[in-house]
Amino acid sequence: MDNAKRILITTESFETFVLRVNRRGRAFGHCIQCDREVEVLSIDQAVTMSGIRTSDLMRRIEAKEIHGVETESGHILICSETLAENGGRKGGGK
Ligand SMILES: [Zn+2]
Repeated sequence: MDNAKRILITTESFETFVLRVNRRGRAFGHCIQCDREVEVLSIDQAVTMSGIRTSDLMRRIEAKEIHGVETESGHILICSETLAENGGRKGGGK
């Protein structure tokens, strides 16, 4: 009985995030919140691309304005879809 319980707990965890990196070094993964595959960026890349400061970026991730995807290893990756919408460098360039 005890064994069965333990198995249930361990299999429930991280299966959702699969990261694929192409030859140009761009990474793609499944954003749970978008429910599709998106390009994901490291914090550094996201700051460079958006012009949003790291501290601001983290705040927006917590507010769910920008999707943050936490990997198994504890890194945060940024969903580029939401980053583009919230980009600070240029407002409303459609
Ligand atoms: Zn997303």
